Amino acid sequence: MINPEHQRRAYLQAMGIDVWLPRDAGDPEASTSVNKAQDAVATDGLDWDELQQCVAACTHCELSESRTQTVFGIGNRGADWMIIGEAPGAEEDRRGEPFVGRAGKMLDEMLRAIDQSRRSVFIANILKCRPPDNRDPRPQEAAACRAYLERQIALVQPKIILAVGKIAAQNLLGSDEPVGRMRARAHDLNGIPLVVTYHPAYLLRSPSQKRKSWSDLCLASRMAEEASS
Ligand code: URA
Repeated sequence: MINPEHQRRAYLQAMGIDVWLPRDAGDPEASTSVNKAQDAVATDGLDWDELQQCVAACTHCELSESRTQTVFGIGNRGADWMIIGEAPGAEEDRRGEPFVGRAGKMLDEMLRAIDQSRRSVFIANILKCRPPDNRDPRPQEAAACRAYLERQIALVQPKIILAVGKIAAQNLLGSDEPVGRMRARAHDLNGIPLVVTYHPAYLLRSPSQKRKSWSDLCLASRMAEEASS
């Protein structure tokens, strides 16, 4: 049954009206804050449709001004595997789907190698909007977008998260380590097993690293199996 409060929030956000949950309702400084990235977007309890509407209408950072459309994510909403990348590029911004360019083809190959596909997994990004000129996401943009991704993770409840590339891994794990030091080991994101590997775009530039990425995928497969048993 649709929760009327969630529906109200989804409608307000779909209309472009900000709905904020102050981090500390008792703190007048916090509740009157106009620093959007410091506040949490209210996504708790939203269902898939409500969440998708909120994302489509989002104006919480300036990327909303330059995007063609938001890129929500795609795939199996009850997937065992969740793949998290960085941000939409030009092609993704045009088509509204993550990983559809050359890096996407590489990701498809990686998924095929572990008997998965873009239909069987759920694919999302740290950012739902394209940063201009494909620059790196800024911390305040990632912070403004975080609640959407967290709600997606809560809805999918994956057995394993594969973070592809530095931006995804560092943002998810709150780390500034390079991928080379984060990969090849088991991480935990609020109780969900997580593995870091290279971004498919990096593998296109450095094919000699594919062997390491394959071993990360094998590690992630073992962890997914363990989580299922
Ligand atoms: N790179 C990403 O990290 N995500 C996309 O959706 C496309 C390219």
